[in-house]
Amino acid sequence: MSVELDRFKQVLKNNGHFVTKPRLRLFGHLQNHKVVTVSQLISLLSHHDQATVYRNIKIFEGLGIISRLQLGWHSKLELSDTFQHHHHHMTCLKCGKVTVLNEDPAIEKQIEHMSARSNFKPIHHQLEIRGLCHICKKT
Ligand SMILES: [Zn+2]
Ligand SMILES: [Zn+2]
Repeated sequence: MSVELDRFKQVLKNNGHFVTKPRLRLFGHLQNHKVVTVSQLISLLSHHDQATVYRNIKIFEGLGIISRLQLGWHSKLELSDTFQHHHHHMTCLKCGKVTVLNEDPAIEKQIEHMSARSNFKPIHHQLEIRGLCHICKKT
């Protein structure tokens, strides 16, 4: 069993939620797919009641298990930094493809410095580069 899965179960229990099969499946899909839309999750979990999936997404968000990436008027979901390695994103404005960028220690250091200069204690951050992917760039 993975450390993340253990942590996930602990967070549910500590907050008075049961570890159920639909919740475990939802967590599993979030681990496998990295960045997904709500409708993708719904279709991946089509054998579950839609209302249950929606409710569980809400619970996960409330518990900080899921982070929401806002992309214009729609959004995508991914596991928060507590449940996966911290990283940044590149989002294509045309096709909506989200690319996960590997952690860059130089950027992380710079964020620490910038925050310290403003006497600010950084707890977490999201960094998203918006533009055109290599396919959309050509058209
Ligand atoms: Zn694109
Ligand atoms: Zn970062």
